Amino acid sequence: MKKHFVVIGLGRFGGSICRELHSLGHQVLAIDIIPEKVNTMTDYSTSSTVTDATDKEALLALGIKNFDVAIVAIGENEHASIQSTLVLKEIGIKVWVKAQNTNHQKILEKIGADRVIHPELDMGIRIAHQLDSDNIIDF
Ligand code: ATP
Repeated sequence: MKKHFVVIGLGRFGGSICRELHSLGHQVLAIDIIPEKVNTMTDYSTSSTVTDATDKEALLALGIKNFDVAIVAIGENEHASIQSTLVLKEIGIKVWVKAQNTNHQKILEKIGADRVIHPELDMGIRIAHQLDSDNIIDF
């Protein structure tokens, strides 16, 4: 079933999620505070906008309330990531967030993030399991 996603923060991580969800046929709204980042996603999203994702009124005006899941892919600016997550939870939608470190992760969990992603740690675990798999016979 096709869903409505909003991807916030269009760096390598957010950009890759945005492109993949769009290619899978989902409705994807791409958001970044930097116009150049938004421009890179116009062909790989249903719609895209330059918006500060910590601004509750701006997110409400975009109709964010009606989306299934928001993916917060703001990494380096932890304050913006936390603020955006808080606002999205207040609006009342599911939020998956990228964490920069364990402290950031703990704060995100406390404020109600539905899933916290640690790309490097999560990928390290996946790769270790692939290496452990009996299916690998040729290195
Ligand atoms: P990656 O490691 O995924 O490549 P990055 O290093 O490009 O990430 P980050 O600092 O992690 O960039 O932030 C990802 C994106 O989030 C950037 O494109 C940045 O402009 C955007 N961003 C930062 N603050 C906000 C905000 N308040 N609202 C919307 N987008 C924001």
